[in-house]
Amino acid sequence: MSSQTLDKFLHEGLEDLKSQGLYNVIDPLESANGPTIQIQGRQLINLSSNNYLGLATDERLIHACVEATKFAGVGAGAVRTINGTLAVHVELEKKLAEFKHTEAAIAFQSGFNCNMGAISAVMDANDAILSDELNHASIIDGCRLSRAKIIRYKHSDMDDLRKQAKEARDSGKYQKLMVITDGVFSMDGDVAKLPEIIAIADEYDLITYVDDAHGSGVMGGGAGTVAHFGLSDKVDFQIGTLSKAIGVVGGYVAGRQELIDWLKVRARPFLFSTSLTPGSAAACITALDILMSSTELHDKLWANANYFKKGLKDLGFDIGHSESPITPCIIGEEVLTQEFSKRLYDNGVYAKSIVFPTVPRGTGRVRNMPTAAHTKEMLDSALSIYEKVGKELAIL
Ligand code: PMP
Repeated sequence: MSSQTLDKFLHEGLEDLKSQGLYNVIDPLESANGPTIQIQGRQLINLSSNNYLGLATDERLIHACVEATKFAGVGAGAVRTINGTLAVHVELEKKLAEFKHTEAAIAFQSGFNCNMGAISAVMDANDAILSDELNHASIIDGCRLSRAKIIRYKHSDMDDLRKQAKEARDSGKYQKLMVITDGVFSMDGDVAKLPEIIAIADEYDLITYVDDAHGSGVMGGGAGTVAHFGLSDKVDFQIGTLSKAIGVVGGYVAGRQELIDWLKVRARPFLFSTSLTPGSAAACITALDILMSSTELHDKLWANANYFKKGLKDLGFDIGHSESPITPCIIGEEVLTQEFSKRLYDNGVYAKSIVFPTVPRGTGRVRNMPTAAHTKEMLDSALSIYEKVGKELAIL
């Protein structure tokens, strides 16, 4: 028999979300997550994937994945520290260090896992973490898990960061202090002010932690936001995910050898959760080889993103202040935002609405992710559908 308190909790919670228009319906894809997708038998232009470079369906990655799977099987069979470290994991970590210009790297099963493991491996209840208020959920959860005091600073507000860093340092209450920021913020596409953050970190002896999930493969010719600012030897933790531009799955920390050695004995997802599948690790290695040998996909991504951004702006939409390919189209009110996205869908464009609580109330947006795999024709058709829906809903 089920628990009555659980039944009541679930029923009321779901009804509440639905009545506010905040209940998220998940549409399964009947195709790969490429520039177009199929849902319920319909072909749609896909502007919602993080597959920035189109690598998720790249033949070279598929081949590497299949070969590694044939050689080593579909699963790694154990956690990394028992006997789940295969040669392919070691090769991947070497390649990641090369990609990020660091001494070493450690791979995790996802970017989320990486933040859960890496922060709590170093920070504890005697410490404090200065965290940008718009940091990703996995950073917030990783900070909470560490039990360090969390001090949120206003989004990219360097005066606030400096003030709070000074207060924390002067209070004498904390042993270690860390500053954590996304490299590229996933909802607005703006880039962290890393040179200023590093200067403040130098002043107050802060450990620096940059999660570049949306910047790797995208910023700095592909090497990421830290490389974009020429700060590769100044950031302690360079975090990335293998699930977005790299096109596969997984996460990593790149940094100094001793830091990586420490994470390998202290980061709990590394110690207690089975390692990446051999096929995924091999596909990631191939993706990194592609990224390090040519900027072709990166350049295509930026050309497409700039084209699409200009198109939306010329139509009269508010596209915020993105400095990356992430292109928000800010609509405002939650129900209107969801209606906008639904009408895009009805007309053949898949672009998800993002509303409170993911973004602040009243700043609902449809988030667009143009990729290297889109053709100009696809982007043109998406723009004309945007125009039609914008007029229908009197936004234009
Ligand atoms: N960090 C940031 C900044 C992210 O945007 C994401 C992806 N949503 C993650 C971590 C989690 O990465 P993954 O999907 O690989 O778990």
